[in-house]
Amino acid sequence: MPAETLSRDARHLALPQVGTEGQQKISRGTALLIGMGGIGCPAATYLASSGIGKLLICDFEAIRFEGQLAVFGPDYAESPCYRCLYVEADESLGNCAGNGVLAPVPGVIGTLMAAEALKFLAGINEAAPVLRLYDALATEFRHLGIRKREGCPACAAA
Ligand SMILES: [Zn+2]
Repeated sequence: MPAETLSRDARHLALPQVGTEGQQKISRGTALLIGMGGIGCPAATYLASSGIGKLLICDFEAIRFEGQLAVFGPDYAESPCYRCLYVEADESLGNCAGNGVLAPVPGVIGTLMAAEALKFLAGINEAAPVLRLYDALATEFRHLGIRKREGCPACAAA
């Protein structure tokens, strides 16, 4: 392992929950970020600096879900997917610039998104997907279970 890679990964290698095996999973892992606004930018920064194998970015610009966080695995046979939760892009939601958002909220969500993705890739906390809703005013999270949607075209195509 090159010295710069070992130096970069040292913080993960020291964590007993990640260790060498978890870091190798992260290094072979792939993450898809949907949206590169206030949430996607910090998530991409932390994922890239964590040595993730492949980082795919998809930016439709109109899709931003302030204060919402979910991580989906690639096993569509068992787990729900992004389209199970969001059937179509809802243009009425607008974006953070138009609807307003407290400035740190996208950074909080993006950073948590990177942490959840790294835990998933390292094989830590492989629980069923959950939608986490962050209420910055009350400083609280709500957790909602996500179910596989019958007739989801994305799941059917996999
Ligand atoms: Zn689906």
